Amino acid sequence: MNGFAEIIGQDIIVSHLQNALRTGEVSHAYILNGAKGSGRHMIARSFSAALFCEDPQTVDGRVDACGQCMACLRTASGSNPDLIIPAREKENSIGVGDIRKMRADVQVKPYSSSRKIYILEDAEKMTPAAQNALLKTLEEPPSYAVIILLADGTSAFLPTIMSRCVTLPLRPVPEKAVEKCLIERFGADENRARLCARFSGGSIGRAAQLLENEKFAALRQKTIAFMREIDNKDAAEIAVFARETAADNETQDMIDFVLTWNRDLMVCRSTKSTENLIFTDEVQYIIKAASALSWSSLQSISEAVFRARRRLFSNVNAELTLQMMLLEIRRACISGSS
Ligand SMILES: [Zn+2]
Repeated sequence: MNGFAEIIGQDIIVSHLQNALRTGEVSHAYILNGAKGSGRHMIARSFSAALFCEDPQTVDGRVDACGQCMACLRTASGSNPDLIIPAREKENSIGVGDIRKMRADVQVKPYSSSRKIYILEDAEKMTPAAQNALLKTLEEPPSYAVIILLADGTSAFLPTIMSRCVTLPLRPVPEKAVEKCLIERFGADENRARLCARFSGGSIGRAAQLLENEKFAALRQKTIAFMREIDNKDAAEIAVFARETAADNETQDMIDFVLTWNRDLMVCRSTKSTENLIFTDEVQYIIKAASALSWSSLQSISEAVFRARRRLFSNVNAELTLQMMLLEIRRACISGSS
């Protein structure tokens, strides 16, 4: 079962919830705000499990569910009748009807526990009317009810909702911690772990997805192979490469790979060390390339990449953006090789 010990990089939230468990001062409503894959479910489940547990344990100063009692077994198997994940009618929104059903259910006393916990997924999809309906429950919640809203932070709740909830924003997990987690929990090798951590945006969920994503690994190889040879590519080859990448919807990741690749060259050149490289399995080549290119051409490359990112962001055609970027990089490589 997930427990607090497994939560990485969210110390403020953990310490808040731990305090609630220790003192028994549990709020009736929480908002866990964070991107998909950032660990909101894990936090909500660990907290719920500890609240339901008949014999919570304190290990290393942390209160956690025992994992053995009837309540824990039910929670872990998804059959705890007092842990409710409300369903909704429409995939893309949570309507007033969905919330009314939940409100009616809240009035029914818990089945086997002293609490009844609701985990409302995708809470940012609540319509304003649904939020107003929820407000009625938040204003006069039964003593046993705890409502945990999981939101991705993309849309704002009504101020009246915010004022009745404890908002707990998840923070991006530092890259090093993501990397360590991928190695220790997912058995990733160091090279892959470092790369996936770099592209994860501080989300362990996204990093784990990338780790298992064969397309991501293939794109990495393809990018490196192309970048190594870019000064020998002609305009037609660059155009084909850009077209294929854009057609596969991989432009964004490709640009990020190129940026990371160039970042490695710059780090290697400026620190004369290979310690902090991301593409650790390309060290020999990176040392050679970093010394072969002038500093100003490395800077030109990184400017070209940032320009491409801005263009993509303002919806300039992906194929064209990528093609222009690669041509600019080729020019910088040819003029800057020493
Ligand atoms: Zn237990």
